[in-house]
Amino acid sequence: MPHQNLWDSCLAFFKDQLPAQQFNSWIKPLVFEVSGSRITLTAPNGFTLKVIQERFLPEIAARAETFFATPAQIELRVGKKTAPPVASPEPVNKAVASPQKKLKHTAKLNPSLLFDNFVTGKANQLAHAAAIQVADSPGMTYNPLFIYGGVGLGKTHLIQAIGNQFKKENNQANICYVHATNYVSDVVRAFQTKQFDEFKQYYNSLDLLLIDDIQFIADKPGTQQEFFYTLNSLIDTNKQVIITCDTFPKEISGIEPRLTSRFSCGLTVAIEPPGLEMRVAILLQKAVLSGNPIGEDVAFFIAKHVRSNIRELEGALNRIEAFARFHKRPITTDLAKEALKDLLAAQNKQVSIENIQKTVADFYRIKLLDLLSKKRTRIIARPRQIAMCLARELTQLSLPEIGNAFGGRDHSTVLHACKTIESLRNTDAALNADFNLLNQTLRN
Ligand code: ADP
Ligand code: MG
Repeated sequence: MPHQNLWDSCLAFFKDQLPAQQFNSWIKPLVFEVSGSRITLTAPNGFTLKVIQERFLPEIAARAETFFATPAQIELRVGKKTAPPVASPEPVNKAVASPQKKLKHTAKLNPSLLFDNFVTGKANQLAHAAAIQVADSPGMTYNPLFIYGGVGLGKTHLIQAIGNQFKKENNQANICYVHATNYVSDVVRAFQTKQFDEFKQYYNSLDLLLIDDIQFIADKPGTQQEFFYTLNSLIDTNKQVIITCDTFPKEISGIEPRLTSRFSCGLTVAIEPPGLEMRVAILLQKAVLSGNPIGEDVAFFIAKHVRSNIRELEGALNRIEAFARFHKRPITTDLAKEALKDLLAAQNKQVSIENIQKTVADFYRIKLLDLLSKKRTRIIARPRQIAMCLARELTQLSLPEIGNAFGGRDHSTVLHACKTIESLRNTDAALNADFNLLNQTLRN
């Protein structure tokens, strides 16, 4: 596909020019599509779009112009597509499934995702408590229960655990776990095969609906309308609905407000990235469950170096187990060090304070110069405090060194910033979500 060459050349260029973190945060998630000499770039959210527009568009436009030998029209949009691109926002009239295909449920409950093997800690205890409540008395307490958090933090595990628990106690109950992308396919298939009544009947007859990664119904108005009806009908009849998402309701783009406001009319809880002790506890548990228990020293070693999410912790542990098996050696810290050599080398590049400042400035759409200036208006000062707090968490720099990097400020200013942000994170959900997102992005 020749057009792919154009995008490949852009990717290669940016990969070469940008620090990996920036490449991964801004360029990699873009979905590139071409029709004639018209290019559409889809960004996962508004701020990525803004960053692309301001910093990278000229380069992309220049390359496109060379490629087409004429200036290309480039449209930037926000959407929830993931590469490889599927060129239809809502393929109602696209032949995807054969008409004979019945409405079927691809996703089933995974019997290994249970409360029993879900480790709890500060990062997920609220979500866990709410999940237990809902599993015990579905439809009676929080409806819908809306669980949000970054990738690999346990959202799917937790809602599957609810499903499994509920099933254990109510064998006859109609339970459906569905990933939002499959829900979208169900809607499409129902349209195509004119089995809408069957579709509606199926969803309306559920006792428990678990819908995962709801952000994937963004920009699909037909699906949203259908989901709106289902949601209302289930809630009105006290049937439990549990929704997960990568962000909290107000922040989801491309979903109708009536729907997002319905999302938050039950209980909304966050799952946050786990702290060190919790990461250790998870590793110890996973190691026991896989039949290769590890010592605390090894667990601490892994947990200190793998910080972004639980899926990655598991990946690191698997790698160590495979390495030990292959070399027929016991699992020690030294062995872990060897097994994770590549990962550690990549990490040693460390998050730089410049990268933190730049990412935070981009995120809040303020100028880097302002972030480093003495300006005290809230819209600048708050991001600055967040950047200081992230620098404290993600770099080895001392307080005076951080202060210095922010236009020569005193170490007490940095300390104050960290304390302010820590306390705000407990009271301001939006700020806390921003902080977690930035933290995860920078660590990637
Ligand atoms: P998400 O849906 O938020 O992306 P998952 O639920 O898929 O994340 O979790 C990623 C992996 O980490 C899964 O294998 C899951 O079992 C494991 N995991 C997540 N949270 C926990 C936890 N608190 N205790 C034990 N394992 C967990
Ligand atoms: Mg998931």
